Amino acid sequence: MKKYVILISALVLGCSTAKQQSATAVSSSNLTAEGKLFTALFQQRAAEYKALCFQAFNIAHIRVDEALLLPQSGPLAIVTDIDETVLDNSPYDVKQSLQGKDYEQKSWEEWTALSRADTIPGALPFLKYASSKGVKIFYLTNRAETERKGTLANLVKFGFPDAVNENLILKQTVSSKEARRQKIAETHNIILLMGDNLADFSALFDKKPADERLKNTYASAADFGKRFIVLPNPVYGDWEGAVYQYNLKLKAAQKDSVIKSVLKSY
Ligand SMILES: [Mg+2]
Repeated sequence: MKKYVILISALVLGCSTAKQQSATAVSSSNLTAEGKLFTALFQQRAAEYKALCFQAFNIAHIRVDEALLLPQSGPLAIVTDIDETVLDNSPYDVKQSLQGKDYEQKSWEEWTALSRADTIPGALPFLKYASSKGVKIFYLTNRAETERKGTLANLVKFGFPDAVNENLILKQTVSSKEARRQKIAETHNIILLMGDNLADFSALFDKKPADERLKNTYASAADFGKRFIVLPNPVYGDWEGAVYQYNLKLKAAQKDSVIKSVLKSY
């Protein structure tokens, strides 16, 4: 019996090694795809990733309690991003990267239509807590209208509070979330903004060059952990776009060159 177990283990190991090798072969000159495999590994397997998420939501919890003690001017709201803030899309990144591919709208929409994203650690209990205290939750995302059904189904599946059409604010024409944030602020007192991307917090970060993002981050330092709750996302985001100066047409080899040109060594 033991012999069979060893044999089967060897076969399984052999298969996975072969699979890894073929993935390496496809993407051997593609730093982006390989980098995304490694960062997705951090998101999926590092307990430290989970700890960072818990840290973010623990701070958010404190901020909600503080807000509840203050005299309230209008209904309170939390505006949260969805991807890599409350839902975990790392399986999509892994699948793309194993094929040597980066993000593509078509395959992305196929993934979101499955409604199979798991929750980000701590997101659901935190939002349920805030909702139980009367705070409205708005899901402000750059997912497209075509993704509405799958997105809602994914949120509803886990019992996310306020997962209804009116509170799911998708991208219409522009990526900037500023106008949509302002619209919510007309009727609600937004106590917290949650996101993995700086553009989830302020127009100060909308498609800005890397040095300006950095400068504005230092200028906003006091807001992080206060009004702004930041979740870690090492896999993708405007931080990556800024490295490429938002040039969406760069080929993998060109991205490799840019990455090597901006990294510091000694
Ligand atoms: Mg996001």
